[in-house]
Amino acid sequence: MSDGSKFAELMITGYSHDGRGVGRIEGRVVFVPGTVKGEKVRVELGQVQKGILAGQLVEVLEPAIERINPPCPIFSSCGGCQLQHINYQTQLRIKKGIVEDALQRIGGFKDLVVQPVLGMEEPWGYRNKGHFRVEKRNGQISLGFYEEGSHNLVNQSCTHLFSPNVGELLSGLTDILNRSEPPIASSQSPGLRHIMIRESKEKGEILLVFILSGEISTKLREITREICNKYPKVVGVCANINPRSSGPILGNKTEIIYGKEAIEDNIGPYTFTISPHSFFQINNAQTAVLYAKAVEYAHLSGKETVLDAYCGIGTITLFLARQAKRVIGVETVPEAIRDAVKNAQRNKVANAEFIQGEAEKVMPALVKQGLKPQVVVVDPPRKGCGQPLLDSILLVRPARVVYISCNPATLARDLKYLAVGGYIVKEVQPVDMFPQTGHVECVILMTYCGSDKKK
Ligand code: SAH
Repeated sequence: MSDGSKFAELMITGYSHDGRGVGRIEGRVVFVPGTVKGEKVRVELGQVQKGILAGQLVEVLEPAIERINPPCPIFSSCGGCQLQHINYQTQLRIKKGIVEDALQRIGGFKDLVVQPVLGMEEPWGYRNKGHFRVEKRNGQISLGFYEEGSHNLVNQSCTHLFSPNVGELLSGLTDILNRSEPPIASSQSPGLRHIMIRESKEKGEILLVFILSGEISTKLREITREICNKYPKVVGVCANINPRSSGPILGNKTEIIYGKEAIEDNIGPYTFTISPHSFFQINNAQTAVLYAKAVEYAHLSGKETVLDAYCGIGTITLFLARQAKRVIGVETVPEAIRDAVKNAQRNKVANAEFIQGEAEKVMPALVKQGLKPQVVVVDPPRKGCGQPLLDSILLVRPARVVYISCNPATLARDLKYLAVGGYIVKEVQPVDMFPQTGHVECVILMTYCGSDKKK
């Protein structure tokens, strides 16, 4: 490397926070996607980002026994999965290591026991939602994900993570789009930019959302008719208008083109209505496992008031309500709150209330009004909890805090903050919500131990 060559051989000695293989060349850290710990590999060296070299796998010189043939033929180019080349039991061990590493390195927790990751029996076809980029290049319309670290679209990515029905719909859609040629968004003109698909795992019903940078074209209405005739599982087609090309995929305005604007799905005994904008965990089977753990950790007797911050459409809220006196769910997205209220009603849950707003503002306001929850459950997005929320927890000191996290780094940061304020981490249980990818979900129990280390 110091001789300027672009190629190098190295040993993979561990994994990054997102499941990429890690090695070193001349003392420098190199991330090599698609590799396994213990392998000797030949890589092409790329750019340096934050002091870390990007390595592209050229050849596996000494393969690890954990390496398997990835079932998906486009795994190496599509950016959707990171771990398909590793057997599933090893994937679970890698994820446990990612959590341990974040808790130690970022949280400063030295001897914390992380439970083995709860995995799936059949870790395929689990996704109930996907958004796919739509692009027209050289006269050909494709839909899929971008290649890892680039803007090259890989057509029909990740069908192995969806049901066969969704896979069929994706390939049918590609044909129909190429035949009908509706306006596709580009830097010069408005049109179709993304397609979102939501599938009810319980009923098999599919909701299709066209995300457009401009108006709904006549062609798109014709296409909708054709799709609905050909794919009876599609029960609703919506258009979402988002003029911005960066930031969130969905814009604020959604219009129904055909059928329903939301689908229904079940987790455990409850049925949920899910609108295009609302968050719903993407893996139903593992969500049931995750929520059961969260409820177990909440350890409710029926007398408690529980605050469920970042509640989405009120999913965990309803599970908690069965065993608590009163549960208050807090969520920013107005559509999700509307779904949550409907979900509580349709499931005949009378002791759940919902407040729309930022948890970081709502919880301090509730505390000011005298609310004193015995248990607080938080399930924030990747950036973790806002500090005012953590400060309110430290102010009212609920006996138990149950933290559900999809990002070990921000989890470790927030647990550290609560630990300094007097909480101890009792249990760390990772759940594999996203098999084949580098993502890890965890549920954590913290209890108040009565001594504020800041004082
Ligand atoms: N607990 C729910 C949702 C978890 S995802 C479930 O299991 O389905 C995180 C949720 O937090 C999303 O619904 C998102 O819209 C919401 N959210 C994001 N920032 C927020 C904030 N500052 N305050 C409240 N909710 C927020």
